[in-house]
Amino acid sequence: MYEAALENLCEAAESFHRRGHAFGSTGNISVRVGARVWITPTGKSLKGLTPGQLACVGVGGESLNENRPSKEFPFHLAVYARREDVRAVVHLHTTYSVALSCLDSLDPENPLPPLTPYYFMRVAPLAVLPYFRPGSEALAAAVGEAAARHNCMLLRNHGVVCAGSTLAEAVDRAEELEQTARLYFILRGESVKHLTHDEVEELKRTFG
Ligand code: ZN
Repeated sequence: MYEAALENLCEAAESFHRRGHAFGSTGNISVRVGARVWITPTGKSLKGLTPGQLACVGVGGESLNENRPSKEFPFHLAVYARREDVRAVVHLHTTYSVALSCLDSLDPENPLPPLTPYYFMRVAPLAVLPYFRPGSEALAAAVGEAAARHNCMLLRNHGVVCAGSTLAEAVDRAEELEQTARLYFILRGESVKHLTHDEVEELKRTFG
């Protein structure tokens, strides 16, 4: 039932807002149901959304109800176009992840050290995308391209995009990415025991 999916989307939005992961009118979440994509509306807080406020667009981007979609809807559609298996996309400006995305020293090939197994279960491999203007076609194209091989993307100087085969999976990925970035900053300057090469390879074999 698609009504339940829309209720779940609104609950996830409320939860992100309540915990400070979506502030002001930032953050957008979508789910795909058949040939339709339901997405949070433009210019609105994720707090207190109801299913009747969600925008509905076709997979080609055409509006299917009276609500205006988030300005970032093109990259949500780009992920769905590239990935038949994806049913939900979460985009947030979570603090530690954005901080990571702003580091001049960030290695796009290896953006985070191997701190916990959960990063490998839910996030890795994390794509790092160059900066593009929010809402631009270039951003949508880059996200669509990366989605072919990645479920999680870090947008330089902007935020995160996480895809999942369910909404819960996309939400878990965004939360795990933020938690790992947070651990990374907490541990900067400390002498850290990282997972070993063999431990990482075992995780990749099991969860990759
Ligand atoms: Zn954004």
